[in-house]
Amino acid sequence: MLFTTSWDDGYVLDQKVAKLLELYGCTGTFYVCPARQHGHAMMTEEEIRTLSQRHEIGAHSMTHPHLTKESDERREREIKGSKQWIEHVTGIPCTMFCYPYGDTNEDVMRVTERSGFIGARMTNDLMFSATNPFALPTTLQVTAFPLRRRFSHWWHFLDPLGPLRVRHSRLREIGVPIRTYRRWLTLAIDLFERARRTNQPFFHLWGHSHEIDRLGMWDDLEHFLVHVKKSGVKSVVNSALVGARDA
Ligand SMILES: [Zn+2]
Repeated sequence: MLFTTSWDDGYVLDQKVAKLLELYGCTGTFYVCPARQHGHAMMTEEEIRTLSQRHEIGAHSMTHPHLTKESDERREREIKGSKQWIEHVTGIPCTMFCYPYGDTNEDVMRVTERSGFIGARMTNDLMFSATNPFALPTTLQVTAFPLRRRFSHWWHFLDPLGPLRVRHSRLREIGVPIRTYRRWLTLAIDLFERARRTNQPFFHLWGHSHEIDRLGMWDDLEHFLVHVKKSGVKSVVNSALVGARDA
């Protein structure tokens, strides 16, 4: 099994994630977008270049749109343009793409492949393998679970158990016992060990650094990385999963 991580949008706090990953011998793929997201501070081009020397930088469009709703022409500008922008910033070929909001379809995937990417990440989770390199799923997001503990949107008040509700049937299908639902960290370790025991192709952790900060999850992330380091599982960047598929 391979351990891979990815971090979306390109926030300044991504550098804190990177340092934490390095501390435990892990690596990350940072999907950066030049457009400011949710009013948070973003990394400068210089900071992205520095990060690219130790981690992988993936593209995440130019303005973070819903790509399935864009015209063919704009879609191409968003996808191809973001690859060119990153290669200009880092001087390194950019081979991975991440669909904003996980919003994609066959047309978007086709443009992504035609633009020269070798794979692209989605946002669906609780998966341990992929069949299509342009529909790479994830395993677990670093986010509030099982409850929304802090409410960033009014509609969250109406459905505090939403994070558990949408994942409950898949967790049961995988066979995760209810006692591990109590905390994000126990679920993360259970899923990781389950994947290792059953010899799955990968465990893909992902998140947004500003959300880790807002939800106070830095300690949880660190404890999980300690667990991964102790396991001896190899950490690779996202593009290595696509390569591993072909090997
Ligand atoms: Zn994003």
